Amino acid sequence: MTDAVTLINLHKRYGSIAALNGVSLSVRRGEVLGLLGHNGAGKTTLMKLILGLASPSEGVVEVFEQSPCGKSGRTLRLNVGFLPENVAFYGQLTAREVLDYFARLKGVARAERDELLERVGLAGAADRRVKGFSKGMRQRLGLAQALLGRPRLLLFDEPTAGLDPLAIRDFYTLLDELRSTGTTVILSSHVLAGVEHHIDRAAILGSGRLLVIGNHEELGRRACLPFTIWVRGRFNGGDWKRLLEEKGARVRRVSETELELTCSAEAKLMIMRTLLDMEGLEDLEMEPPTLETVYAHFEKGNGHGREESSCATS
Ligand code: ATP
Repeated sequence: MTDAVTLINLHKRYGSIAALNGVSLSVRRGEVLGLLGHNGAGKTTLMKLILGLASPSEGVVEVFEQSPCGKSGRTLRLNVGFLPENVAFYGQLTAREVLDYFARLKGVARAERDELLERVGLAGAADRRVKGFSKGMRQRLGLAQALLGRPRLLLFDEPTAGLDPLAIRDFYTLLDELRSTGTTVILSSHVLAGVEHHIDRAAILGSGRLLVIGNHEELGRRACLPFTIWVRGRFNGGDWKRLLEEKGARVRRVSETELELTCSAEAKLMIMRTLLDMEGLEDLEMEPPTLETVYAHFEKGNGHGREESSCATS
């Protein structure tokens, strides 16, 4: 099956500013791709090119094998939903009227409207004017608008910005549902904590270039970042410390009964085995490098130099 989105050597220049500089990547059908990058990295520009709202200075954009800028662009956009970074609606309209308006533009049956208002938690505010909506409520309405017509591809630009913790949780639940029904999703985010559980791969942009793309585990491995193992127990006497260090662990005693071990991805299994054989072990918990740490690694090192270096063994 062909990919949902294909970008080949994509450049977008605004005068002397290179917003995108030779980006090539593919988004598989049914995949949820997280687009990460610093302010001004080019995330919104990338989305605009996929939507056909801007045309590339150079390179190829294909969405479901068609150019979003070509003749088929309008039909294509009926299959694509977009939640912009700054959601703005005509304030005099009610939430229901806003969705009616967009439903008409998209040729979607109005029955879907109430279902969507319910789904994003706005059923109780359906007849209130949007001008009185909080930022989070506007964001929810934007989400409903993007979901109109059950698009095959969804682009969410900073969907969790301005949402409270419960609303963020609701958004991720919705994202998981979309993922389970095979919808392709690209979402950009600066809120990295927890996002790794809801995306298939992350693409990290830096100054208009694609620094790296892969799933959380692959990226952690490529960055050679250590795993952390938290251990609780009574470790008196014996040569447990030497044993663990021989297997490649760095051992730090946090308290009388707690240890913090760090080790490479390759060494972690051996170390876990050694721990499980240790007398006095009460509990342990392993933590892979978080997406935040992975992101910081590639952003700081600008990817390439660090990626090619081989991992230290401890
Ligand atoms: P943020 O995380 O802050 O939203 P971003 O990664 O979405 O940033 P873009 O909005 O894509 O970044 O911008 C990339 C670069 O292109 C920035 O330097 C920006 O100033 C520039 N840029 C984007 N749109 C335009 C435009 N219409 N005219 C001129 N420069 C633009």
